[in-house]
Amino acid sequence: MRALQPDEQFREVAERLDLALHVRAFRLCLMCNAPLRPASLAELDSRVPDGMRERHTRFVTCDVCRRVLWEGSHWKHMRAGIDALSNAGAPDMPDVPSAPDGYVQYGP
Ligand SMILES: [Zn+2]
Repeated sequence: MRALQPDEQFREVAERLDLALHVRAFRLCLMCNAPLRPASLAELDSRVPDGMRERHTRFVTCDVCRRVLWEGSHWKHMRAGIDALSNAGAPDMPDVPSAPDGYVQYGP
């Protein structure tokens, strides 16, 4: 690996291993690797902080560690990196699925 910055390292590894066509982002919990599933605000209730209740409408949860995730700043950063990768490496690639699969921002 030649890149020094994490974003560049991601791109370098993904291009070297030709991973653009195999990206399945935002489907697994980053803490325990269990599948994420969409969840309503009513179901999550107090597990969503007040500030996030007003700013987001789509949430997912991990049934193993019970973390709640939403499309916050981390998700946007990851989304941009994946989009840049797919645009550069595989122009004919269909869009990486987003909702309800794409959410990465840890709750409290
Ligand atoms: Zn988890």
